[in-house]
Amino acid sequence: MAAQLVVQKFGGSSLADADRIRRVARRIARERNAGSALVVVVSAMGDTTDELLALAAGITDEPDSRELDMLLATGEHQSATLVSMALHAIGVPAISLTGGQAGITTDGTYGRARIADIQPTRIRAEIEGGKVVIVAGFQGLSASAAAQHETTTLGRGGSDTTAVALAARLDANRCQIFTDVRGIYTADPRIVKNARQLTIIGYEEMLELAHQGAQVMQTRAVELGWVNDVTIEVLSSFEDAPGTLITEDPLVEQRNKVRGLAHDRNVAKITLVEVPDQPGVAARVFKPLAAEGINVDMIVQNVGHHGATDLSFTIPRVELAKAKRILEPIVRDLGFREMTTDSAVAKVSIVGAGIQNAPGYAARMFGSLADAGVNIEMISTSEIRITTIIAEDALETAVRALHEAFELERPEAVEAAAAG
Ligand code: ADP
Ligand code: ASP
Ligand code: MG
Repeated sequence: MAAQLVVQKFGGSSLADADRIRRVARRIARERNAGSALVVVVSAMGDTTDELLALAAGITDEPDSRELDMLLATGEHQSATLVSMALHAIGVPAISLTGGQAGITTDGTYGRARIADIQPTRIRAEIEGGKVVIVAGFQGLSASAAAQHETTTLGRGGSDTTAVALAARLDANRCQIFTDVRGIYTADPRIVKNARQLTIIGYEEMLELAHQGAQVMQTRAVELGWVNDVTIEVLSSFEDAPGTLITEDPLVEQRNKVRGLAHDRNVAKITLVEVPDQPGVAARVFKPLAAEGINVDMIVQNVGHHGATDLSFTIPRVELAKAKRILEPIVRDLGFREMTTDSAVAKVSIVGAGIQNAPGYAARMFGSLADAGVNIEMISTSEIRITTIIAEDALETAVRALHEAFELERPEAVEAAAAG
């Protein structure tokens, strides 16, 4: 019988220095000694990606996107080679591959490319030859119409996506994401000290948490897991402790209606004051933003007065300078009174599949924020989520207040019952 195939992914903090890399190598060796074939996906060491971005920023405000991807991809090249060497040092045959060498192709969108295909011939051959295959995460080669194979990166946190995509393509028996916390919690454990670890979370809820800023899993990774039916295990690389399963949750109906909170600081708010209240204005504002790849998130247009209205929306904070540059001429053209921006805002969301058919959750959320003295600037909802925009300096207060208001630290009834 063929050995079971395990995909393991190690994040940056798990690979931050030589000691940690050696520890990761020992963990890989342990799995191999248990008889598994392994494909290991690695992130860049520690804060390497941020450091590379800072290097580029030291040269220019607007680095060329192709060159930036070439630069960022080197972070994962480094760590892949070092993990491979650490395995050699303990007698485990291993080989490191770049995303391209691993057969990963993407579309041509630098900085947030999507995986288009994986041809795992080389990976399979190396496994066949008895090697542990270390794949540099977060990258691929674009197979553009011009047939120029360019290095692309998959967006921040993209190694998660590399791992889940490989697990799906190789039909792996397990897909394990090792990180610096034990799994998925009811809120970011860095902010809420008594956040509770979940044993299981459904794809839909995890996708929404990721989308709303829970950085523990990249959104695209959860989507790929869902579409390809890959159960994703999130677990600690520092201790042997049970992790969290991201999978179809059979007990979703019996769980807490609010499963978790997510927050996001990468938000800026733009307000166009006294927008002419006539057809076509919103399209004139949002089309050029879309054309430049800027993701507009929440949009609020107020009731018009005297033929004018205010239009507010949020975008990723890192795109604010670019958005202002795009909008300035339009604002003048369309005759707005002014454009104001606020980059000191943040987003906090409650997420749970049960919210959709339970009235009163919005009221409870807003009430708890009011009691904590937190002013709500914008609100948006989906079937399984309620999101508010607040001042960034109120973020931690808000997250803690909501965690308490929804009693997220208390074990769920189904789990308490299962534990006896
Ligand atoms: P890695 O380097 O392993 O990819 P990340 O920093 O990308 O790790 O993600 C792990 C971090 O995600 C944790 O340290 C934690 O602070 C943060 N996080 C945010 N929300 C959650 C959550 N709901 N559950 C667990 N971790 C979370
Ligand atoms: N190194 C990349 C980042 O920091 C990708 C990853 O860690 O998943 O975003
Ligand atoms: Mg990550």
